[in-house]
Amino acid sequence: MKLYNLRHPDEQVSFADAVKLGMGRDRGLFFPTVIPRLRDVQKLLQLPFVERSQRIIEAWIGSDHGSEIVCRMVEKAFNFPLDLVKVDAQRQVLELFHGPTLAFKDFGARFMAQCLSEFAAGQQTTILTATSGDTGAAVAHAFYGLPGINVVVLYPEGKISPLQEKLFCTLGKNIRTISVSADFDACQELVKQAFVDDDLQRALNLNSANSINISRLLAQICYYFEAVATCEPDNPPVIAVPSGNFGNLTAGLLARAMGLPVKRFIAATNSNDTVPRYLHDRVWAPVKTVATASNAMDVAEPSNWPRVEAVFAAMNQSLEELTGIAISEEQTRDSLLELNRLGYLSEPHAAVAAAALRQSLQPGEQGIFLGTAHPAKFKESVEMILDLHVELPAALQAVADREILSTRLAADFQQLKNYLLNSAI
Ligand SMILES: *Cc1c(COP(=O)(O)O)cnc(C)c1O
Repeated sequence: MKLYNLRHPDEQVSFADAVKLGMGRDRGLFFPTVIPRLRDVQKLLQLPFVERSQRIIEAWIGSDHGSEIVCRMVEKAFNFPLDLVKVDAQRQVLELFHGPTLAFKDFGARFMAQCLSEFAAGQQTTILTATSGDTGAAVAHAFYGLPGINVVVLYPEGKISPLQEKLFCTLGKNIRTISVSADFDACQELVKQAFVDDDLQRALNLNSANSINISRLLAQICYYFEAVATCEPDNPPVIAVPSGNFGNLTAGLLARAMGLPVKRFIAATNSNDTVPRYLHDRVWAPVKTVATASNAMDVAEPSNWPRVEAVFAAMNQSLEELTGIAISEEQTRDSLLELNRLGYLSEPHAAVAAAALRQSLQPGEQGIFLGTAHPAKFKESVEMILDLHVELPAALQAVADREILSTRLAADFQQLKNYLLNSAI
């Protein structure tokens, strides 16, 4: 598998290098030169999840790394279940939150950790990443205790749920967390600056594990096949993806480009609606991030957007085929209430996608929305909106009383740089 830099197409790298580099020159995103087509998709759909995922990942990197290594990485990464649950006559939810940190980001983070320990063996690496909540937890857990790897996670102070914070800021060992007094976009900006800083690059061998790392996207392609596996072959589903940085949607589009039958994708956002507005009037006009109940989607400038456009270009398809729907806070609440009435306990991110799906579905269509987080992860807002008590699953119960170990910093690059050079290792 070869990848090129979307900003400088002449820069081409192997998969292993793309995983280690994260980004190319000038912060350009890596994108595959060729998207492999799968031959017998219907047969593939009949396989169990792990075995099917091994075939899918092999189609990308099997010839570089060999079947045996790929199969082992997939098996170690995907060691937890996923589920498809019927919600009403037209909608199902793909539950992706049964991993160690109760969000879909476990898939990408765990596979990336496998890739890095395979490809960067013996080399000291610092993972530096910004999170609006779930990435940080997934990355911290995926790399926790791995030899030769230090992790530094930045997050916006006070803008993630207290339980989310407990989940990844209490680990210690090779995991460091920094709460920044600013929003997520500012955290992301600091990380981007660090990656173009020569001193830091020389001293730390930096790697970003956020959703721009191509290994995470490959992992996420796999569960879209699971979503479609139960659908009737002659009625491919409409899939609604609750989106923030648009990594998840990119993975879905890549799955379709590989041959997975999907009728259309819905890019569902909260009030941070840069993409739905862009799809509507073709003007890219990000405005300031607003805080919502679906805080992992509070992103005004989604970093994976160039890849979304690149998939459409690679397939000679028009962006018009992508439906963009923004869901307000009130609609999110209504959706969560409606799902609860239907007997399905959900949380704000999935509720955004469920609402968008409901708006878009036509008679006769089948819809799937992605359940990206466990309701207990957003316990406070779920309990307030639904007026009920949400049980903590064991993973959260265990950390609820632990001490937060984070360092606080202002949104100031020089401070971050000093911290990284002096105290991170
Ligand atoms: C990260 C996240 C999203 C958004 O996913 P992107 O790939 O950034 O678009 C949605 N829901 C939850 C719960 C998340 O953690």
